[in-house]
Parts: sequence; structure tokens; C-alpha cells
Amino acid sequence: MSKSDDLLLELNRGVAVYLKRIPPFKYQNKEYRLIDNYIATPIMRCDICGDYLQWEISIIENCDGHTIRVGNACIDRLTGQNVSEWMKNFRQKRVNILANRSCINQLSIILDAQNRKESSLEIPKAYVKEFRAILNQLCKGLNLTTKQRQLTDSYLTLQIRA
Ligand SMILES: [Zn+2]
Repeated sequence: MSKSDDLLLELNRGVAVYLKRIPPFKYQNKEYRLIDNYIATPIMRCDICGDYLQWEISIIENCDGHTIRVGNACIDRLTGQNVSEWMKNFRQKRVNILANRSCINQLSIILDAQNRKESSLEIPKAYVKEFRAILNQLCKGLNLTTKQRQLTDSYLTLQIRA
């Protein structure tokens, strides 16, 4: 499995763990749990406040298996946690990793080869530390600075040409 596939899998596992860790909460005298969160297409209505303009929907379920669709403002209020922000952050990380996929996979192959001291793929010493920092940042789902992007792009282009 490629490095980026690994990261995406790990990210998805993180969401499952996060949802499970949200403590149960009360709604209309029944105990509910947050069981899912997704992007609604087309937009949906929040079953709690009736607001129609909801792109991000959480699904909550009570012990009878009854489920309710909940918008961002309501899920944050019900759980007493910043669920919408956390999910937004997760989605942004996912988008970044997907966008930087080939860069992540190439850099991780090159740096692994460097670790094993395979001379054919040697990186100039001055760059190794920089590239490790860049890969580390990309793996966290963060974006690169313009300078980091330029360095990575020019080096990876050279590698392809070589
Ligand atoms: Zn609502």
C-alpha cells in the first residue's frame, strides 16, 4: 500500500475513534450517540431546528435505534463539543492529502531509499532534512509554504527526468 493510502486509512480510523469518544447526550429525554457525519447532497434539513441549509449532517441514534439528522449548530450544542469544527478539519486534511498524493508517495520512496543508503536515489545532504520536514508536514494533512512547494516540485521534476 502506498504512503498516501496508509495516511487516508489512518485518517478514516481517526474519525471512527473520534465519533465513539463523544459521550452520549440527552435529546427529548432520551440518550443519543453520534454515529455518523457526512456531506449531504443535495442539502438536507436539520431534524432538530428545521433549518434547511445543511451541507454537513450528523446522524445521532438512541438506544431504540431511532436516528435523527442534525446540522452543525445543533450537533455542537447537543454534544457540548466542537464536532463541526473537528469534522471540517478532518475533511480539509483529507483534501490536502489527496491533492498531495503523488508528492507524498514520491518523497517517502526517495527518503526510504536514502535511509537504506541506496546511492542511486541520493538526495543532496542539504536537502534531506528539509524534505523530511516537508514530508512530515504533508503527512499531517497540512499544506506547504510556497518555498517548500517550489523546492519539492523542482526536485521531483529532476528525479523524473533523471
Ligand atoms: Zn439544527
